[in-house]
Amino acid sequence: EDAIKKEVLAKARELGVKFIRLQFTDITGVLKNMAITVEQLEKALDGELMFDGSSIHGFTRIEESDMYLRPDPKTFAVFPWRPRDGAVARLMCDVYNPDGTPYEGCPRNTLKRVLAEAAEMGFSMNVGPELEFFLFQVDADGHPTLRTHDKAGYFDLSPVDMGENARRSMVLTLEDMGFEIEASHHEVAPGQHEIDFKYSDALDVADKIVTFKFVVRTIAQRHGLHATFMPKPVFGINGSGMHMNQSLFRGNENAFYDPSAPDGLSEVARNYIGGLVKHARAFAAVTNPTVNSYKRLVPGYEAPVYIAWSERNRSPLIRIPAKRGLSTRIELRNPDPSCNPYLAIAACLRAGLDGIKNGLQPPPSCDRNIYQMTPEERKELGINSLPASLEEALAELAADEVVRGALGEYVFEKYVHAKKMEWENYRIQVHPWEVEEYLSKF
Ligand code: GLN
Ligand code: MG
Ligand code: MG
Ligand code: MG
Repeated sequence: EDAIKKEVLAKARELGVKFIRLQFTDITGVLKNMAITVEQLEKALDGELMFDGSSIHGFTRIEESDMYLRPDPKTFAVFPWRPRDGAVARLMCDVYNPDGTPYEGCPRNTLKRVLAEAAEMGFSMNVGPELEFFLFQVDADGHPTLRTHDKAGYFDLSPVDMGENARRSMVLTLEDMGFEIEASHHEVAPGQHEIDFKYSDALDVADKIVTFKFVVRTIAQRHGLHATFMPKPVFGINGSGMHMNQSLFRGNENAFYDPSAPDGLSEVARNYIGGLVKHARAFAAVTNPTVNSYKRLVPGYEAPVYIAWSERNRSPLIRIPAKRGLSTRIELRNPDPSCNPYLAIAACLRAGLDGIKNGLQPPPSCDRNIYQMTPEERKELGINSLPASLEEALAELAADEVVRGALGEYVFEKYVHAKKMEWENYRIQVHPWEVEEYLSKF
Protein backbone atom coordinates (compact mmCIF):
# COMPACT_ATOMS: atom_id res chain seq x y z
CA GLU A 1 0.00 0.00 0.00
CA ASP A 2 2.74 2.44 1.00
CA ALA A 3 4.95 1.34 -1.86
CA ILE A 4 2.21 1.95 -4.40
CA LYS A 5 1.49 5.39 -2.94
CA LYS A 6 5.16 6.28 -3.37
CA GLU A 7 4.98 4.99 -6.92
CA VAL A 8 2.03 7.27 -7.68
CA LEU A 9 3.81 10.28 -6.22
CA ALA A 10 6.91 9.50 -8.27
CA LYS A 11 4.91 9.00 -11.45
CA ALA A 12 3.02 12.25 -10.93
CA ARG A 13 6.33 14.07 -10.59
CA GLU A 14 7.93 12.33 -13.54
CA LEU A 15 4.97 13.03 -15.86
CA GLY A 16 4.72 16.66 -14.80
CA VAL A 17 1.21 16.23 -13.42
CA LYS A 18 -0.16 19.47 -12.04
CA PHE A 19 -3.83 18.66 -11.40
CA ILE A 20 -5.45 15.53 -10.09
CA ARG A 21 -9.12 14.82 -10.33
CA LEU A 22 -10.43 12.72 -7.49
CA GLN A 23 -13.33 10.85 -9.03
CA PHE A 24 -16.28 8.88 -7.73
CA THR A 25 -19.87 8.30 -8.88
CA ASP A 26 -23.20 9.08 -7.33
CA ILE A 27 -25.81 6.31 -7.13
CA THR A 28 -27.07 7.00 -10.64
CA GLY A 29 -23.54 6.56 -11.98
CA VAL A 30 -22.83 10.20 -12.73
CA LEU A 31 -19.13 10.90 -12.45
CA LYS A 32 -18.15 13.43 -9.80
CA ASN A 33 -14.84 15.24 -9.59
CA MET A 34 -12.91 17.05 -6.98
CA ALA A 35 -9.86 18.70 -8.50
CA ILE A 36 -6.72 19.12 -6.42
CA THR A 37 -3.21 20.23 -7.23
CA VAL A 38 -0.24 17.92 -7.08
CA GLU A 39 0.86 19.56 -3.85
CA GLN A 40 -2.15 17.99 -2.12
CA LEU A 41 -1.64 14.56 -3.62
CA GLU A 42 0.15 13.00 -0.69
CA LYS A 43 -2.52 14.16 1.71
CA ALA A 44 -5.18 12.86 -0.69
CA LEU A 45 -3.51 9.47 -0.93
CA ASP A 46 -3.56 9.25 2.84
CA GLY A 47 -7.33 9.72 2.68
CA GLU A 48 -7.26 13.01 4.48
CA LEU A 49 -9.14 15.11 1.95
CA MET A 50 -12.66 16.15 2.83
CA PHE A 51 -15.51 17.25 0.62
CA ASP A 52 -19.00 18.50 1.21
CA GLY A 53 -21.23 15.50 0.53
CA SER A 54 -24.47 17.42 0.89
CA SER A 55 -23.94 18.98 -2.53
CA ILE A 56 -24.04 15.62 -4.26
CA HIS A 57 -27.07 13.62 -5.33
CA GLY A 58 -27.51 10.53 -3.20
CA PHE A 59 -24.93 11.71 -0.74
CA THR A 60 -27.19 13.75 1.44
CA ARG A 61 -27.75 13.73 5.13
CA ILE A 62 -27.00 17.28 5.93
CA GLU A 63 -25.73 16.60 9.42
CA GLU A 64 -23.14 14.26 7.93
CA SER A 65 -22.06 16.33 5.01
CA ASP A 66 -18.33 16.14 5.63
CA MET A 67 -17.11 13.10 3.77
CA TYR A 68 -13.65 11.78 3.09
CA LEU A 69 -12.29 10.59 -0.23
CA ARG A 70 -9.91 7.66 -0.24
CA PRO A 71 -8.26 7.35 -3.64
CA ASP A 72 -7.36 3.90 -4.89
CA PRO A 73 -3.71 4.37 -5.94
CA LYS A 74 -4.02 1.53 -8.47
CA THR A 75 -6.35 3.74 -10.53
CA PHE A 76 -3.85 6.54 -11.21
CA ALA A 77 -4.03 7.53 -14.89
CA VAL A 78 -3.03 10.62 -16.85
CA PHE A 79 -5.48 12.17 -19.34
CA PRO A 80 -3.53 11.92 -22.58
CA TRP A 81 -5.49 14.66 -24.36
CA ARG A 82 -4.47 17.34 -21.92
CA PRO A 83 -1.28 19.32 -22.44
CA ARG A 84 1.97 17.68 -21.35
CA ASP A 85 2.78 20.82 -19.47
CA GLY A 86 0.66 20.85 -16.33
CA ALA A 87 -0.77 17.42 -17.07
CA VAL A 88 -4.03 16.21 -15.55
CA ALA A 89 -4.46 12.80 -13.91
CA ARG A 90 -7.28 11.07 -12.13
CA LEU A 91 -7.75 8.72 -9.19
CA MET A 92 -10.91 6.74 -8.47
CA CYS A 93 -12.01 7.10 -4.86
CA ASP A 94 -14.03 5.41 -2.17
CA VAL A 95 -16.13 7.66 0.02
CA TYR A 96 -15.74 7.39 3.78
CA ASN A 97 -17.65 8.78 6.73
CA PRO A 98 -15.95 11.20 9.13
CA ASP A 99 -15.63 8.31 11.63
CA GLY A 100 -13.56 6.29 9.16
CA THR A 101 -16.22 3.76 8.15
CA PRO A 102 -17.06 3.20 4.47
CA TYR A 103 -19.97 5.39 3.40
CA GLU A 104 -22.94 3.14 2.51
CA GLY A 105 -24.02 5.51 -0.25
CA CYS A 106 -20.80 5.01 -2.23
CA PRO A 107 -21.41 2.65 -5.17
CA ARG A 108 -17.78 1.58 -5.26
CA ASN A 109 -18.07 0.48 -1.62
CA THR A 110 -21.27 -1.37 -2.54
CA LEU A 111 -19.50 -3.41 -5.20
CA LYS A 112 -16.59 -4.10 -2.85
CA ARG A 113 -19.00 -5.43 -0.24
CA VAL A 114 -20.59 -7.90 -2.68
CA LEU A 115 -17.16 -8.90 -4.01
CA ALA A 116 -16.20 -9.68 -0.41
CA GLU A 117 -19.27 -11.94 -0.17
CA ALA A 118 -18.06 -13.76 -3.27
CA ALA A 119 -14.55 -14.00 -1.82
CA GLU A 120 -15.97 -15.62 1.30
CA MET A 121 -17.40 -18.31 -0.95
CA GLY A 122 -14.00 -18.67 -2.60
CA PHE A 123 -14.71 -16.73 -5.78
CA SER A 124 -13.39 -13.69 -7.57
CA MET A 125 -15.29 -12.20 -10.48
CA ASN A 126 -14.13 -11.22 -13.95
CA VAL A 127 -16.14 -8.97 -16.23
CA GLY A 128 -15.72 -8.09 -19.90
CA PRO A 129 -18.08 -5.35 -21.09
CA GLU A 130 -19.10 -4.49 -24.66
CA LEU A 131 -20.04 -0.84 -24.77
CA GLU A 132 -22.11 0.54 -27.61
CA PHE A 133 -22.79 4.21 -28.23
CA PHE A 134 -23.91 6.69 -30.88
CA LEU A 135 -21.98 9.58 -32.35
CA PHE A 136 -24.25 12.46 -33.34
CA GLN A 137 -23.56 15.79 -34.95
CA VAL A 138 -23.82 18.99 -32.97
CA ASP A 139 -25.64 22.07 -34.28
CA ALA A 140 -24.15 25.53 -34.76
CA ASP A 141 -24.65 26.28 -31.06
CA GLY A 142 -22.86 23.12 -30.03
CA HIS A 143 -26.03 21.31 -28.93
CA PRO A 144 -26.33 17.61 -29.75
CA THR A 145 -28.71 16.62 -32.55
CA LEU A 146 -29.96 13.23 -33.68
CA ARG A 147 -28.20 13.57 -37.02
CA THR A 148 -25.44 11.07 -37.61
CA HIS A 149 -22.25 11.73 -39.51
CA ASP A 150 -22.99 8.73 -41.74
CA LYS A 151 -26.03 10.43 -43.18
CA ALA A 152 -24.83 13.98 -43.08
CA GLY A 153 -23.04 13.63 -46.39
CA TYR A 154 -23.95 17.16 -47.47
CA PHE A 155 -21.79 18.87 -44.95
CA ASP A 156 -19.10 16.30 -44.72
CA LEU A 157 -16.61 17.38 -47.34
CA SER A 158 -13.77 15.30 -46.01
CA PRO A 159 -13.30 11.91 -47.64
CA VAL A 160 -12.86 10.23 -44.26
CA ASP A 161 -15.78 9.28 -42.09
CA MET A 162 -15.75 11.62 -39.08
CA GLY A 163 -17.09 8.90 -36.83
CA GLU A 164 -14.46 6.33 -37.80
CA ASN A 165 -11.83 8.96 -37.20
CA ALA A 166 -13.17 9.82 -33.79
CA ARG A 167 -13.42 6.17 -32.81
CA ARG A 168 -9.83 5.54 -33.84
CA SER A 169 -8.73 8.42 -31.64
CA MET A 170 -10.83 7.05 -28.75
CA VAL A 171 -9.12 3.70 -29.03
CA LEU A 172 -5.66 5.27 -29.03
CA THR A 173 -6.51 7.45 -26.03
CA LEU A 174 -7.92 4.53 -24.06
CA GLU A 175 -4.80 2.50 -24.85
CA ASP A 176 -2.68 5.36 -23.58
CA MET A 177 -4.62 5.14 -20.33
CA GLY A 178 -3.89 1.45 -19.88
CA PHE A 179 -6.93 -0.12 -21.58
CA GLU A 180 -6.34 -3.21 -23.66
CA ILE A 181 -8.77 -2.77 -26.57
CA GLU A 182 -9.91 -6.09 -27.98
CA ALA A 183 -12.27 -4.94 -30.68
CA SER A 184 -13.72 -1.76 -32.06
CA HIS A 185 -16.21 -1.59 -34.88
CA HIS A 186 -19.14 0.19 -36.42
CA GLU A 187 -22.41 -1.22 -35.09
CA VAL A 188 -25.54 -1.96 -37.11
CA ALA A 189 -27.25 1.43 -36.80
CA PRO A 190 -26.00 4.56 -38.57
CA GLY A 191 -23.66 6.46 -36.28
CA GLN A 192 -23.46 3.57 -33.83
CA HIS A 193 -20.16 2.19 -32.58
CA GLU A 194 -18.80 -0.43 -30.23
CA ILE A 195 -15.48 -0.62 -28.41
CA ASP A 196 -14.63 -3.70 -26.32
CA PHE A 197 -11.83 -3.85 -23.82
CA LYS A 198 -10.24 -6.86 -22.22
CA TYR A 199 -11.90 -8.48 -19.23
CA SER A 200 -10.47 -7.88 -15.81
CA ASP A 201 -11.52 -8.16 -12.19
CA ALA A 202 -14.92 -6.65 -11.48
CA LEU A 203 -13.79 -3.55 -9.58
CA ASP A 204 -11.17 -2.64 -12.15
CA VAL A 205 -13.75 -3.02 -14.93
CA ALA A 206 -16.33 -0.88 -13.15
CA ASP A 207 -13.71 1.87 -12.78
CA LYS A 208 -12.80 1.44 -16.43
CA ILE A 209 -16.41 1.69 -17.63
CA VAL A 210 -16.78 5.00 -15.84
CA THR A 211 -13.54 6.24 -17.36
CA PHE A 212 -14.47 4.85 -20.77
CA LYS A 213 -17.67 6.86 -21.00
CA PHE A 214 -15.89 10.00 -19.94
CA VAL A 215 -13.07 9.49 -22.47
CA VAL A 216 -15.45 8.66 -25.33
CA ARG A 217 -17.54 11.78 -24.66
CA THR A 218 -14.45 13.95 -24.40
CA ILE A 219 -12.82 12.69 -27.59
CA ALA A 220 -16.11 12.90 -29.49
CA GLN A 221 -16.38 16.54 -28.47
CA ARG A 222 -12.89 17.20 -29.72
CA HIS A 223 -14.00 15.83 -33.07
CA GLY A 224 -17.05 18.06 -33.11
CA LEU A 225 -19.39 15.16 -32.34
CA HIS A 226 -21.64 14.21 -29.45
CA ALA A 227 -21.28 10.72 -27.99
CA THR A 228 -24.28 9.33 -26.18
CA PHE A 229 -24.73 6.21 -24.07
CA MET A 230 -28.47 6.73 -23.98
CA PRO A 231 -29.87 3.22 -24.53
CA LYS A 232 -32.36 3.98 -27.32
CA PRO A 233 -31.89 7.42 -28.85
CA VAL A 234 -33.84 6.74 -32.05
CA PHE A 235 -37.07 4.79 -32.49
CA GLY A 236 -36.93 2.15 -35.21
CA ILE A 237 -33.22 1.35 -35.16
CA ASN A 238 -30.98 -0.62 -32.78
CA GLY A 239 -30.33 0.76 -29.34
CA SER A 240 -27.05 0.67 -27.41
CA GLY A 241 -26.35 -2.16 -25.01
CA MET A 242 -23.56 -2.97 -22.64
CA HIS A 243 -23.35 -6.75 -22.81
CA MET A 244 -21.59 -8.04 -19.74
CA ASN A 245 -19.42 -11.13 -20.08
CA GLN A 246 -18.89 -12.59 -16.63
CA SER A 247 -17.13 -15.48 -14.99
CA LEU A 248 -16.14 -16.58 -11.52
CA PHE A 249 -12.62 -17.69 -10.74
CA ARG A 250 -11.33 -19.87 -7.91
CA GLY A 251 -7.73 -18.74 -7.63
CA ASN A 252 -6.37 -19.09 -11.14
CA GLU A 253 -9.03 -21.54 -12.27
CA ASN A 254 -12.16 -20.59 -14.12
CA ALA A 255 -14.95 -21.96 -11.91
CA PHE A 256 -17.39 -21.94 -14.86
CA TYR A 257 -15.33 -24.49 -16.78
CA ASP A 258 -15.71 -28.23 -16.42
CA PRO A 259 -13.91 -30.20 -19.14
CA SER A 260 -15.80 -33.34 -18.17
CA ALA A 261 -19.26 -31.84 -18.78
CA PRO A 262 -20.63 -32.36 -22.30
CA ASP A 263 -21.06 -28.61 -22.79
CA GLY A 264 -17.97 -27.71 -20.79
CA LEU A 265 -20.01 -25.78 -18.21
CA SER A 266 -19.54 -26.51 -14.52
CA GLU A 267 -22.30 -26.88 -11.96
CA VAL A 268 -21.21 -23.49 -10.59
CA ALA A 269 -21.85 -21.92 -14.01
CA ARG A 270 -25.23 -23.62 -14.22
CA ASN A 271 -26.23 -22.40 -10.77
CA TYR A 272 -24.98 -18.90 -11.59
CA ILE A 273 -27.20 -18.87 -14.68
CA GLY A 274 -30.02 -20.17 -12.48
CA GLY A 275 -29.51 -17.18 -10.17
CA LEU A 276 -29.44 -14.67 -13.03
CA VAL A 277 -32.61 -16.15 -14.51
CA LYS A 278 -34.38 -16.05 -11.16
CA HIS A 279 -33.47 -12.45 -10.35
CA ALA A 280 -33.36 -10.89 -13.83
CA ARG A 281 -36.66 -9.05 -13.45
CA ALA A 282 -35.34 -7.40 -10.29
CA PHE A 283 -31.78 -6.54 -11.33
CA ALA A 284 -33.15 -5.01 -14.54
CA ALA A 285 -34.01 -1.99 -12.36
CA VAL A 286 -30.25 -1.56 -11.89
CA THR A 287 -28.79 -2.80 -15.19
CA ASN A 288 -31.49 -0.94 -17.15
CA PRO A 289 -32.07 2.06 -14.94
CA THR A 290 -33.77 4.66 -17.12
CA VAL A 291 -37.21 5.18 -18.62
CA ASN A 292 -35.50 4.96 -21.99
CA SER A 293 -33.81 1.61 -21.18
CA TYR A 294 -37.11 -0.20 -21.73
CA LYS A 295 -37.53 1.25 -25.22
CA ARG A 296 -34.44 -0.78 -26.13
CA LEU A 297 -35.73 -4.07 -24.70
CA VAL A 298 -38.23 -4.69 -27.49
CA PRO A 299 -38.33 -7.34 -30.24
CA GLY A 300 -36.48 -6.77 -33.48
CA TYR A 301 -33.27 -4.98 -32.50
CA GLU A 302 -30.94 -7.66 -31.12
CA ALA A 303 -31.75 -6.68 -27.56
CA PRO A 304 -33.20 -9.28 -25.19
CA VAL A 305 -36.84 -9.35 -24.19
CA TYR A 306 -37.19 -12.88 -22.84
CA ILE A 307 -35.51 -14.48 -19.87
CA ALA A 308 -33.82 -17.51 -21.38
CA TRP A 309 -30.33 -18.72 -22.17
CA SER A 310 -28.72 -20.28 -25.19
CA GLU A 311 -25.40 -21.53 -26.44
CA ARG A 312 -26.24 -20.61 -29.99
CA ASN A 313 -28.56 -17.81 -30.74
CA ARG A 314 -28.42 -14.22 -29.64
CA SER A 315 -32.03 -13.45 -28.92
CA PRO A 316 -32.14 -14.60 -25.29
CA LEU A 317 -31.01 -12.78 -22.16
CA ILE A 318 -27.98 -14.99 -21.67
CA ARG A 319 -25.69 -16.37 -24.33
CA ILE A 320 -22.80 -18.76 -23.72
CA PRO A 321 -19.92 -17.81 -26.03
CA ALA A 322 -18.20 -20.85 -27.51
CA LYS A 323 -14.85 -20.30 -25.78
CA ARG A 324 -13.95 -22.75 -23.04
CA GLY A 325 -11.03 -23.20 -20.64
CA LEU A 326 -9.99 -19.94 -18.95
CA SER A 327 -12.30 -17.98 -21.26
CA THR A 328 -15.45 -19.83 -20.24
CA ARG A 329 -18.04 -17.17 -19.50
CA ILE A 330 -21.61 -16.18 -19.79
CA GLU A 331 -22.71 -13.11 -21.71
CA LEU A 332 -25.55 -11.20 -20.08
CA ARG A 333 -27.17 -9.11 -22.80
CA ASN A 334 -29.70 -6.85 -21.11
CA PRO A 335 -27.47 -4.29 -19.34
CA ASP A 336 -27.20 -0.93 -21.05
CA PRO A 337 -24.57 1.77 -20.74
CA SER A 338 -26.79 4.17 -18.78
CA CYS A 339 -26.33 1.97 -15.71
CA ASN A 340 -24.06 2.64 -12.78
CA PRO A 341 -21.49 -0.13 -13.44
CA TYR A 342 -20.65 -0.62 -9.76
CA LEU A 343 -24.27 -1.23 -8.81
CA ALA A 344 -25.05 -3.22 -11.96
CA ILE A 345 -22.16 -5.62 -11.45
CA ALA A 346 -22.95 -5.93 -7.74
CA ALA A 347 -26.60 -6.77 -8.52
CA CYS A 348 -25.76 -9.43 -11.14
CA LEU A 349 -23.06 -10.99 -9.00
CA ARG A 350 -25.30 -11.32 -5.99
CA ALA A 351 -28.03 -12.87 -8.16
CA GLY A 352 -25.52 -15.42 -9.46
CA LEU A 353 -24.15 -16.14 -5.98
CA ASP A 354 -27.68 -16.79 -4.78
CA GLY A 355 -27.97 -19.40 -7.52
CA ILE A 356 -24.78 -21.07 -6.27
CA LYS A 357 -25.76 -20.96 -2.59
CA ASN A 358 -29.13 -22.50 -3.29
CA GLY A 359 -28.11 -24.85 -6.08
CA LEU A 360 -30.59 -23.22 -8.46
CA GLN A 361 -30.96 -25.04 -11.76
CA PRO A 362 -31.62 -22.91 -14.82
CA PRO A 363 -34.42 -23.90 -17.16
CA PRO A 364 -33.25 -25.96 -20.16
CA SER A 365 -31.28 -23.87 -22.64
CA CYS A 366 -33.35 -22.63 -25.53
CA ASP A 367 -31.89 -22.64 -29.01
CA ARG A 368 -35.07 -21.73 -30.84
CA ASN A 369 -36.00 -18.23 -31.87
CA ILE A 370 -38.09 -17.11 -28.92
CA TYR A 371 -39.58 -14.17 -30.80
CA GLN A 372 -41.29 -16.60 -33.16
CA MET A 373 -42.97 -18.56 -30.34
CA THR A 374 -46.54 -17.97 -29.32
CA PRO A 375 -47.19 -16.75 -25.77
CA GLU A 376 -48.55 -20.24 -25.00
CA GLU A 377 -45.34 -21.91 -26.18
CA ARG A 378 -43.26 -19.56 -24.06
CA LYS A 379 -45.46 -20.23 -21.08
CA GLU A 380 -45.06 -23.96 -21.54
CA LEU A 381 -41.28 -23.60 -21.61
CA GLY A 382 -41.38 -21.33 -18.56
CA ILE A 383 -39.92 -18.37 -20.44
CA ASN A 384 -40.71 -15.13 -18.67
CA SER A 385 -40.16 -11.59 -20.01
CA LEU A 386 -37.98 -8.78 -18.73
CA PRO A 387 -39.94 -5.88 -17.22
CA ALA A 388 -41.64 -3.71 -19.83
CA SER A 389 -41.01 -0.45 -18.00
CA LEU A 390 -38.90 1.16 -15.33
CA GLU A 391 -41.95 1.21 -13.09
CA GLU A 392 -42.40 -2.54 -13.40
CA ALA A 393 -38.70 -3.14 -12.77
CA LEU A 394 -38.70 -1.01 -9.62
CA ALA A 395 -41.58 -3.02 -8.19
CA GLU A 396 -39.63 -6.23 -8.88
CA LEU A 397 -36.54 -4.80 -7.23
CA ALA A 398 -38.47 -3.87 -4.10
CA ALA A 399 -39.78 -7.44 -3.83
CA ASP A 400 -36.42 -9.17 -4.32
CA GLU A 401 -34.41 -9.55 -1.10
CA VAL A 402 -31.32 -10.81 -2.89
CA VAL A 403 -30.88 -7.94 -5.35
CA ARG A 404 -32.05 -5.43 -2.80
CA GLY A 405 -29.40 -6.81 -0.48
CA ALA A 406 -26.76 -6.23 -3.14
CA LEU A 407 -27.52 -2.52 -3.04
CA GLY A 408 -27.94 -2.37 0.72
CA GLU A 409 -30.92 -0.63 2.31
CA TYR A 410 -29.35 2.83 2.17
CA VAL A 411 -28.62 2.79 -1.56
CA PHE A 412 -31.87 0.94 -2.24
CA GLU A 413 -33.95 3.68 -0.58
CA LYS A 414 -32.15 6.54 -2.31
CA TYR A 415 -32.11 4.76 -5.63
CA VAL A 416 -35.77 3.84 -5.69
CA HIS A 417 -36.76 7.30 -4.52
CA ALA A 418 -34.79 8.96 -7.33
CA LYS A 419 -36.00 6.48 -9.94
CA LYS A 420 -39.65 6.75 -8.93
CA MET A 421 -39.42 10.49 -9.40
CA GLU A 422 -37.87 9.94 -12.81
CA TRP A 423 -40.72 7.62 -13.75
CA GLU A 424 -43.34 10.02 -12.43
CA ASN A 425 -41.87 12.94 -14.39
CA TYR A 426 -42.06 10.84 -17.51
CA ARG A 427 -45.52 9.51 -16.82
CA ILE A 428 -47.19 12.91 -16.62
CA GLN A 429 -45.66 14.20 -19.86
CA VAL A 430 -47.65 14.38 -23.07
CA HIS A 431 -45.50 12.68 -25.68
CA PRO A 432 -45.37 13.47 -29.41
CA TRP A 433 -46.78 10.02 -30.12
CA GLU A 434 -49.96 10.84 -28.20
CA VAL A 435 -50.45 14.11 -30.03
CA GLU A 436 -50.01 12.40 -33.36
CA GLU A 437 -52.32 9.57 -32.41
CA TYR A 438 -55.14 11.47 -30.74
CA LEU A 439 -55.13 15.14 -31.69
CA SER A 440 -57.18 14.77 -34.84
CA LYS A 441 -58.96 11.58 -33.82
CA PHE A 442 -60.81 13.03 -30.86
N1 GLN B 1 -27.29 -3.18 -30.10
C1 GLN B 1 -27.72 -4.47 -29.60
C2 GLN B 1 -28.26 -4.31 -28.18
O1 GLN B 1 -28.98 -3.43 -27.95
C3 GLN B 1 -26.64 -5.50 -29.65
C4 GLN B 1 -26.08 -5.72 -31.02
C5 GLN B 1 -24.98 -6.72 -31.02
O2 GLN B 1 -23.94 -6.50 -30.42
N2 GLN B 1 -25.16 -7.83 -31.64
O3 GLN B 1 -27.99 -5.06 -27.28
MG1 MG C 1 -20.07 -7.21 -29.25
MG1 MG D 1 -22.57 -5.03 -30.34
MG1 MG E 1 -22.15 -9.19 -27.33
